[in-house]
Amino acid sequence: MMKLQDTFGRKFPYIRLSITDVCNFKCTYCLPEGYKKNPGDTRSFMSAEEISRLTKALSELGVCKIRLTGGEPTVRKDFFDILKDMKQNSNIPKVTMTTNGYRLNKIAKQLYETGLDGINISIDTLNRETFKKLTGHDRLNEILEGINILQKLGFNNIKVNAVLLKGINDTHEEFEKFGNFIKNNKIDFRFIELMQTGDNLDYFKKNHVSSKIFKDYLKKNKWISQTFGKDAGPSLNFIHPEFEGKFGLIAPYSKGFCKTCNRLRITSRGDLRLCLFGNTGVSIRHLLQDDAQKDELVDLIIKQLHLKKESHYLELGETGITPNLSSTGG
Ligand code: SAM
Ligand code: SF4
Repeated sequence: MMKLQDTFGRKFPYIRLSITDVCNFKCTYCLPEGYKKNPGDTRSFMSAEEISRLTKALSELGVCKIRLTGGEPTVRKDFFDILKDMKQNSNIPKVTMTTNGYRLNKIAKQLYETGLDGINISIDTLNRETFKKLTGHDRLNEILEGINILQKLGFNNIKVNAVLLKGINDTHEEFEKFGNFIKNNKIDFRFIELMQTGDNLDYFKKNHVSSKIFKDYLKKNKWISQTFGKDAGPSLNFIHPEFEGKFGLIAPYSKGFCKTCNRLRITSRGDLRLCLFGNTGVSIRHLLQDDAQKDELVDLIIKQLHLKKESHYLELGETGITPNLSSTGG
């Protein structure tokens, strides 16, 4: 039964769980200088055991989907142990992940075999040089190869996310490239509007572009807007009879974005975050120390939900306590 509900009637069947803040990429909008330890927070990341306890409590709360994220989740040495435990020992029906696709060609088969239910891969551009400049890594080809391997194995739930960036991937030419990519490829490709975080104010001012530019492109090329599904989340989707894949758009600055929000976040150090941009976060870690604490943990999570705000107030320039998305699990 779904026990996670806030005071605005929103249900939260979906949890984003960060398992590390560490990342090996240097995306210009997220960690331009690469991952650095936060000297103000010396707490360790949750252990596989703590994550396992948390997952069981979430399952009891009726959560039906957990998305593993980070930082880069695959940099954890015990990543596959965590995934395997979630798939085998909890009753969470769907476990998915968000990844930068690092070494995807090498781990695709293992991901498939461990039972991952869906994967979101971040690819901001299909231009190899631009990709290298944006991430600090010349790894576009291995990521694309990894996608190919997954598809050959029959892994279907693949989404690709790109952050829309002014002068970098907001051109007609880039949209066409992504279009060609999903023409005969059953992949959802979504643009995310660049979000302002505590760290990226100058970058945001320089590179933020409204998603209208992409919407106009879709309209001009006869893409058809799909209505929201029951647990679709905040992505607007578009279909086209001549394309196997879908286009999508995640525009956090649009009005009503929060109304369809169906996600809660748990950080790698075990803080429950009610909104990516909200100021409220509470540690649940002390209740992850023993199996016998499960009921107490379940109660605490329910109580915290009653504090979730109606909207994030991002449009007022309030970025909450998120310095960058790698530290909250974007
Ligand atoms: N490292 C993994 C990855 O890149 O997919 C998972 C974590 S990353 C923080 C999750 C998503 O957040 C990525 O798709 C990334 O592009 C996006 N992201 C990071 N910073 C962002 C920002 N300032 N605005 C919008 N999206 C952002
Ligand atoms: Fe790393 Fe993902 Fe942030 Fe890029 S967006 S720096 S891959 S955490």
